Amino acid sequence: MYAVGIDLGGTYTKVAVISKRGKMAGRTHFETQKFNKFDSWVEKSVSVIKNLLKENSVAGKNFVGVGIGAPGHIDHKKGIIHTLVNIKGWDSVHLAKEFKKRMGKPVYVDNDANMMALGEYAYGAAKGARNAICITLGTGVGGGLILENKLYHGSFMAGGEIGHMPVNVEGPACACGGKACVESYVGNSYIVKRTVGYLKRHNKSILARWFKGKYHKITPLDIANAAKSGDALAKQIWDETGEYLGVCLAGVVNLLDPEIVVIGGGVAKAGGLIFKPVRKTLKERVMQIYSERLKIVPAKLGNDGGLMGCAWQVFEHGKA
Ligand SMILES: [Zn+2]
Repeated sequence: MYAVGIDLGGTYTKVAVISKRGKMAGRTHFETQKFNKFDSWVEKSVSVIKNLLKENSVAGKNFVGVGIGAPGHIDHKKGIIHTLVNIKGWDSVHLAKEFKKRMGKPVYVDNDANMMALGEYAYGAAKGARNAICITLGTGVGGGLILENKLYHGSFMAGGEIGHMPVNVEGPACACGGKACVESYVGNSYIVKRTVGYLKRHNKSILARWFKGKYHKITPLDIANAAKSGDALAKQIWDETGEYLGVCLAGVVNLLDPEIVVIGGGVAKAGGLIFKPVRKTLKERVMQIYSERLKIVPAKLGNDGGLMGCAWQVFEHGKA
């Protein structure tokens, strides 16, 4: 049995054919921007899916449906995208209905961070867990909750927005309407912004030598490389970033009592630089019953977590 997973990203749309056991049989991608009108994106995706199924000799009963993950506010029950983060003009579009019409199979649409969480739960780092928190660190900070073996959506289908947990009373204004959200401390651009602020005062950092004032070019990867080569300022930045994330997660852990926290996304590639302060902060801040047992692990599926979750969604619905 095979399902198709689609990960609609601002830059690329990734499409994959995935078996029930989690083997990726075939995959491809196209540039989202070239098909950013809703109708043309649907047409392009459907033709890409049909080709991919043909290439991999998947047809008929073997093909059970399509799962789609998108960055935005999604009504997963009706398969409607209310708003997207990166693409304008897709307001209240009936994505599942349009796909179903063309594919003749069940289609499920959900938030991309939720799909990443589901992927890690079904095939990755949180496999076998009953309660898991998954968080993706990138430009934004996404999250997904698995509670009692189920993806948690909440009352208004916006559950699991860990990125918008406040970690301070006062702090930077956030696009969500709140302030001092954890995303404003550990999101890509904010890590860089904080670094640049420090660099203007501490020009002894190796980063000052590397970038010679062209600080807008600095990326989290550069800050990780600087820390790995012993730079004190860069290390401090990662310690702070890990601490903010740890404080946020301590609240979530005390509230939900999960057995595992999975951390993925580009910024998580800093490895121990961020995991160490996160683990330390959590140990200090969570209630004692968790401090020895709670696992904090990197995501296993990398950028494919979302695709895998989309496929799992199709297999799970098929069972019911
Ligand atoms: Zn926010």
